Amino acid sequence: MTHFDHEEEFHSRDRKQFRKERKLAQNTDRSKFKKTDLENKIIETAHHLRRGRVVAISGEGAFIDFDGESVLCSLKGLMKKETAQVKNIIAVGDWVRCSDQGAIEQVEERTSTLARTDISGRKEQLIAVNVDQVLITASVVSPPLKPALVDRYLIAAEKGNIHPIIVINKIDLLNAASDEEQERYRNFLAAYIPLGLPILSLSSETKIGLEALRSLLQNKTSVFSGQSGVGKSSLLNACFGFELRTGELATKTSKGSHTTTTASLIRLPGGGYCVDTPGIRSFGVWDLTKTDVINHFTDFIPFAKECKYPDCIHINEPECAVMQALEAGTIAALRYESYVNLLEEIASGSQSKTWS
Ligand code: GDP
Ligand code: ZN
Repeated sequence: MTHFDHEEEFHSRDRKQFRKERKLAQNTDRSKFKKTDLENKIIETAHHLRRGRVVAISGEGAFIDFDGESVLCSLKGLMKKETAQVKNIIAVGDWVRCSDQGAIEQVEERTSTLARTDISGRKEQLIAVNVDQVLITASVVSPPLKPALVDRYLIAAEKGNIHPIIVINKIDLLNAASDEEQERYRNFLAAYIPLGLPILSLSSETKIGLEALRSLLQNKTSVFSGQSGVGKSSLLNACFGFELRTGELATKTSKGSHTTTTASLIRLPGGGYCVDTPGIRSFGVWDLTKTDVINHFTDFIPFAKECKYPDCIHINEPECAVMQALEAGTIAALRYESYVNLLEEIASGSQSKTWS
């Protein structure tokens, strides 16, 4: 062994010792803060990955918002990983981490999801994720109120851990509406207000109720859902001065485009985000079960306890206390119709193309 070798060995041992000590110090440091493996991973990667939020998804990738700057990033990195097997690798509202080359490398765990059954009826499609509230938007007269559709969204919100708010638009049309239409609106309120859900009646046309809507949206992530034509885009335009496309024409155009989903996340002036979903023309709750439906109709529960059969589903069983309450007017006809409609949907297995 030459002198040189000795010196090399000495230094190498020195380095080893140094590394050992550094590792030890790091370990004590880690245990001191009790960081989880996930947290450590995030800290390790944070310096070379940028955190952003998925604002829209297209055939080429996803548009990610980095502090107000929108960049088209690729899904290639994610595809390579085993997560590629999982449907809905990313969805509008996801928080992701991207490399400098514009590849999405990580997707953060979701806190909530709004899902529906896709067009084939066999797959789950995520409309938006990490949202605080869903604005279940309906309208009076044109299109008319559809309680069963409202209940579908309510169930989807319950399943996805999202706070629901019912928004009834176009109340300006009530003045000139038929008695039947006016009664439908009154019956809807009478049936749904007792459920304790927030309900807003408004009009994007006359701007009634828009101030209340604006304040509900502030600093939250909200998704506007509901049948096409109820005025979701018009409401956003009226509240924030946006210029989102409205009316039938917009829906037709988006159908012909190459985007796989037309949902997009919009930053709101004054704080918060909002998801506009112009391309969603039908809505079926993903993986809807009889139990979901029964649990959702909490207003039936006190009566259901009195039914002759403990497994009564209140359709045609004898001595059914729910049906008796319906006849007595204690349970609203609108609620019962909606309940039957949902059970029929499960029975027929057609959980998607019910609404357009
Ligand atoms: P979306 O498909 O839910 O986004 O609905 P749009 O915003 O495209 O609106 C559909 C149609 O309803 C458009 O022709 C709007 O002008 C009309 N509309 C929207 N809000 C109101 C309203 O408050 N009153 C009336 N009378 N019409 C409205
Ligand atoms: Zn019963």
